[in-house]
Amino acid sequence: MSSDVVIIGGGVIGLTLAYKLAEEGVSTTIVERGEPGREASWAGAGMLPPGNFEKAKTPAALLRGLSDSLWSDLSNELLERTGVDNGYRSSGGMEVRYQSDESLSNEIEKWKLEEVPIEILDRKQLKQKEPLLSEKLTKAYFLPTMHQVRNPRQLSALYAGCQSRGVQFLLGQPVTNIKREGEKVLGVETLNGSINCGHVCIATGSWSGQLLNSLEINNSIKPVRGQIVLLRSQQHSLKHIIQRGSQYLVPRPDGRILIGSTMENVGFNKTTTASGISSLIQFALELVPELASATVEKTWAGLRPG
Ligand SMILES: Cc1cc2nc3c(=O)[nH]c(=O)nc-3n(C[C@H](O)[C@H](O)[C@H](O)COP(=O)(O)OP(=O)(O)OC[C@H]3O[C@@H](n4cnc5c(N)ncnc54)[C@H](O)[C@@H]3O)c2cc1C
Repeated sequence: MSSDVVIIGGGVIGLTLAYKLAEEGVSTTIVERGEPGREASWAGAGMLPPGNFEKAKTPAALLRGLSDSLWSDLSNELLERTGVDNGYRSSGGMEVRYQSDESLSNEIEKWKLEEVPIEILDRKQLKQKEPLLSEKLTKAYFLPTMHQVRNPRQLSALYAGCQSRGVQFLLGQPVTNIKREGEKVLGVETLNGSINCGHVCIATGSWSGQLLNSLEINNSIKPVRGQIVLLRSQQHSLKHIIQRGSQYLVPRPDGRILIGSTMENVGFNKTTTASGISSLIQFALELVPELASATVEKTWAGLRPG
């Protein structure tokens, strides 16, 4: 078997690359050890921070700015091509702090330098924008151009889009080795045979370290576990994404609210824990006490490529 490009890993990165390569007429194969889109890309909360490609100063900010500018067209194109609505919406997002927390001024300065739209909120404005938030929150800013996407839907749309463009899939097949001759990569090996190709792309998320090591490419990629609690609350709905540092609430239009997330260095362990889940629920109830009556619908954990 052969292909111009082999992409190892069918998460959001692998699927999106394949979708775009196929658009250019490049024959592309995704080799995925399980099913496409069932790891970090499925587990994530789908928050899409704003950016400004023209004003960005760091590599990460450039990527964020570029990504921000591509989402809308990609979402419309996928909807038209596959009929799947990925739930891409501009919900706006706010960063909030208690009185005793450190100031937000450095962050605010960073957004202003990037010329990303931002509103600084005093207590009264915060209450007006998001009435359910605790009175104890006193500092906040609002990013009106923050978006969100429903991860499982985005992955279904990408998978269907790839299939419609003729991307080949080899599923349930871990890549065990990258074939090479000196510095040149010739293809990939799986337990059921090998695929020759001109280019290999490693898009294996948290697991990329192992394949990169086999090519003697220095890296420090490691899994960072993130746990999530999904609540359902018909009476108490939030309007915007609410973040406090690394923890957040992401309200969906259907009344569901995601609470995320932990950041844990526990190896390739995707279990949820009592302390992780309880810390997330405690965080949510401190921010929005009315959520005490919400139903816990589901919990899960995923491994971010750190
Ligand atoms: C709880 C949580 C919340 C998050 N929230 C957000 C958020 O709000 N916004 C945001 O932008 N990001 C968020 N992220 C991060 C985001 O989910 C990841 O950065 C992104 O999904 C990484 O995509 P990926 O395709 O690189 O990896 P993955 O989705 O992990 O895909 C890698 C794929 O490679 C496959 N694979 C691994 N090894 C092999 C092999 N040897 N052979 C073949 N296949 C292999 C795996 O099975 C998997 O399908 C979150 C992550 C978590 C865990």
